[in-house]
Amino acid sequence: AMQTIGIDIGGTSIKGIVMNSQGEKLGEIQQPTDAALGKKHIVLHVQEVTQQLLRRFPHIATIGIGTAGVVDVNTGQIVYATDNLPGWHGFRLKQWAEERFGRKVIVDNDANVALAGEYWLGAGKDCSDLTMLTLGTGVGGANMIRGEIYRGANWTGGEWGHVIFTPRGRPCNCGMEGCIEQYISGTALVRSAQEAANVPYASGHEVFADFAKGNPAIARVVGQFVRDLALIIHNIHNGLNPGRIIIGGGIVDAKSFWWDLLEKQLNLLPSKIEVRPAVLGNQAGAIGAARLAMLTKGF
Ligand code: BGC
Ligand code: ZN
Repeated sequence: AMQTIGIDIGGTSIKGIVMNSQGEKLGEIQQPTDAALGKKHIVLHVQEVTQQLLRRFPHIATIGIGTAGVVDVNTGQIVYATDNLPGWHGFRLKQWAEERFGRKVIVDNDANVALAGEYWLGAGKDCSDLTMLTLGTGVGGANMIRGEIYRGANWTGGEWGHVIFTPRGRPCNCGMEGCIEQYISGTALVRSAQEAANVPYASGHEVFADFAKGNPAIARVVGQFVRDLALIIHNIHNGLNPGRIIIGGGIVDAKSFWWDLLEKQLNLLPSKIEVRPAVLGNQAGAIGAARLAMLTKGF
């Protein structure tokens, strides 16, 4: 059976997973990082994780890497990245990784690889027209049409995070205002909670802990979050009408606090839309990157 390595470059950690073509996980490593520290830092952590896995699985010939940003999948270059990842814009990640590791490397957007993972082994298994949103540091988006990830003419297809949700709204790292990412990302939820409750929350977990205690300001923030998310789902439904919309990312770990509220909002919408939480958690990206490395032919 073929074996590949999948690497997921996230805002707070670098994950590496070894998969075989039967969908079994053979190994994994996780390295905390802080993407805000910039490119030098991230590539060092990618190198550590990958080299540790290659020492254990030296026969592996193909590596898949998922990263935030708009990725030209043919060249493996990051053709656009926001300041969430300083130094990443323009970086030839595939070339760097192939030189470093002496293996064939494919690079794709982090939400695209997460969708590939969920389609293979998770919440998208039995559906080939899918949209995925990942709610984390930013908001990632990915579309699959008839079993193929749809990346558009210039690779920005699926960037739901930077679709404008509120004209002249909150400023975004991409230079525009009112992007979806500024309303439903984990970062945005924490910031809204900080402002509403005047508490310096450091994580979504702290926010949901206060939500569970019945803090009314936080209840309003969470209520707004699920209403915004439902409207965004409505927009995706009307634009693409995927068979299923999958919601992933860090906030989904806390779904016991808010998923019922989201379903209530969805039930108020005119059309029935199938929405499911991701099931591979924070491993979706690495698993999907390994999957794309397995399926790749010519990149
Ligand atoms: C980036 C996307 C990425 C998403 C999730 C956004 O800010 O523009 O490319 O997929 O964050 O990491
Ligand atoms: Zn934006």
